Amino acid sequence: MSEPPRLVAITEHSHDVLIDLVYASANNFTGRVIYRHGRCFLHPQAESSLRRAVLAARGLGFRLKILDAFRPQAAQEALWAAAPNPDYIADPKKGSNHTRGVAVDLTLAGADGQALDMGTPVDTMTAASHHFHAGHAAAVQVNRMRLLTVMLEAGFVHHPREWWHYQLPGADQFPLMDSPDLPADAPEVTAPGG
Ligand SMILES: [Zn+2]
Repeated sequence: MSEPPRLVAITEHSHDVLIDLVYASANNFTGRVIYRHGRCFLHPQAESSLRRAVLAARGLGFRLKILDAFRPQAAQEALWAAAPNPDYIADPKKGSNHTRGVAVDLTLAGADGQALDMGTPVDTMTAASHHFHAGHAAAVQVNRMRLLTVMLEAGFVHHPREWWHYQLPGADQFPLMDSPDLPADAPEVTAPGG
């Protein structure tokens, strides 16, 4: 058996991204702090694709703003307890592609760091979050297509019901990873509980 891959730490400095981990603060759909840390990780293959996405976004004049990446199993269980809705939250018994380290929730930001208008906040569990939902203004559709273009170009695939969620193709073939895999020396990028 080969060694499981080590998750790669993502920081604003190392990857030229903005990071605002929604589950490291209470500013998420549960209203509670889910992560005990504010650190951001991806599987090495997803990290490699993220680097391509950063360049593609830059080519359009935007930056990526990461809202969630690797998610420990305990966090997935907490999210499922808050909202056991399999259309939007993976049943922790099956495992989330975030816990495989190959999924990322993100948006685009302008040069001023302000996130673009995507029509709904992240984690809105309604049809308004679906790609090409007919109720949105043209400017919102264009912003979503900008993110879609950047992420497809980088090798990710989209989630039809979540404008913010992208993952590697064949994501469920990657093994679930858990907190013991976290590199202990990775820097904090979001203040926990902030
Ligand atoms: Zn996601």
